[in-house]
Amino acid sequence: MRSARPGGCCLPELNPHASPCTNMFDKILIANRGEIALRVLRACRELGIRTVAVHSEADNDAKYVKLADESVCIGPASSMQSYLNVPRIIAAAEVTDAEAIHPGYGFLSENADFAERVESSGFVFIGPRPETISMMGDKVRAKEAMKAAGVPCVPGSDGALPDDPKEIVKMARATGYPVIIKAAGGGGGRGMRVVHTEAALISAVTTTRTEAGAAFGNPTVYMEKYLENPRHVEIQVLADEYGNAIYLGERDCSMQRRHQKVLEEAPAPGIDRKLLAKVGESCVEACKRIGYRGAGTFEFLYENGQFFFIEMNTRVQVEHPVTEMITGVDIVQEQIRVAAGEKLRYAQKDIHLRGHAIECRINAEDPFKFTPSPGKILSWHTPGGPGIRVDSHVYAGYTVPSYYDSMIGKVIAYGDTREQAIRRLRVALSEMVVEGIKTNIPLHQELLVDTHFVQGGSSIHYLEKKLAGQG
Ligand code: ADP
Repeated sequence: MRSARPGGCCLPELNPHASPCTNMFDKILIANRGEIALRVLRACRELGIRTVAVHSEADNDAKYVKLADESVCIGPASSMQSYLNVPRIIAAAEVTDAEAIHPGYGFLSENADFAERVESSGFVFIGPRPETISMMGDKVRAKEAMKAAGVPCVPGSDGALPDDPKEIVKMARATGYPVIIKAAGGGGGRGMRVVHTEAALISAVTTTRTEAGAAFGNPTVYMEKYLENPRHVEIQVLADEYGNAIYLGERDCSMQRRHQKVLEEAPAPGIDRKLLAKVGESCVEACKRIGYRGAGTFEFLYENGQFFFIEMNTRVQVEHPVTEMITGVDIVQEQIRVAAGEKLRYAQKDIHLRGHAIECRINAEDPFKFTPSPGKILSWHTPGGPGIRVDSHVYAGYTVPSYYDSMIGKVIAYGDTREQAIRRLRVALSEMVVEGIKTNIPLHQELLVDTHFVQGGSSIHYLEKKLAGQG
């Protein structure tokens, strides 16, 4: 175990190829599973850092568990008893003498209590300060902080909804129907309800409150104008603990089903670059004001030429590779460097977007019914060639467990233009062979020849409409 590390180990470096910081961690524990565990492991190995993989009994045979320098089984398959089991994870860091913990995404990555426990146990949490996670995890507080920093937000209730139904009705009238009632502690596309009429308002608020209390332990709800045709556009940021912050362009994640992203791309097609720069700068300003540290994402809805902040994710995101492909910045390595006390190695002027990248999330599920399809993968052949990146932890003979998220990997294509990225992705998916389980590859193949998708700029509702036969 180590004590909190002294800050400022390295001089500011503008040369991204400079040798690693001499005060870099010796050993990092990866508190996650699946493709992101492998992604973090790769970043560590490149930086010369030893790794500890913690895993459940269901993940004994995972590739990253074998590749890690050490591994610790932290419990049975159920996430509650393994990947969400804080005492076991801390104990694993203690027995292996790890210095820092990378939480990946999902699981404990946005759990402020976990970050706090990690730090109070003498380890470094690779992410923002616990107070920042806690503030941004409460969407009401996050919106207040963003407003104060000049970031444009979706109009609605300024803060949590009051108890008085009359007040709520007044707020909805002022906002204008349809409105969306959202849980302050919500996440993963859950805890939201759209309301079209005044008659349905109060019962919707009551139900969302009850559900939010049960699901997130926080019954606070708030109201937003429900935007009928927006796109989901998000800004990636990186910040160090010395007040330096930059943004790495944007991603368009409008292809969603049930508020869950299916395919993502960068840059966002057809949006004025000057407007994007303005929004990016306001995110950087917000990072500085809240003392943000590490990688983070500001999520916005974009409609009629305007951006509206909806929430911030205080962790690495599934879709981070598309940004890496067009900026050349390794976001996971930068997270680690910043957590080790390095200053950001890039200034805003060093960030240039080049070309276009698209990511398809590959899920073990029926491509059109979306029922999960866990089981043994009999054959697994991944594509390659110029501009193709595959991030996946699976292999032929691997059994996809039924206990976790169905995502088994990501195929990312880079091209000089969006058209080239689409063409490369079509070829890549046509080469890909997965036997033994069903995957959503056929859905991606349909999307990649869909006229609206190819045109670019579809709204967040497009995919659902297409699936319902109205696209
Ligand atoms: P979560 O934390 O669950 O991901 P978000 O606030 O990020 O919740 O919203 C997830 C998705 O829900 C958005 O990408 C969008 O599709 C939809 N959504 C959220 N707020 C609104 C809104 N005000 N109007 C229309 N759609 C919304």
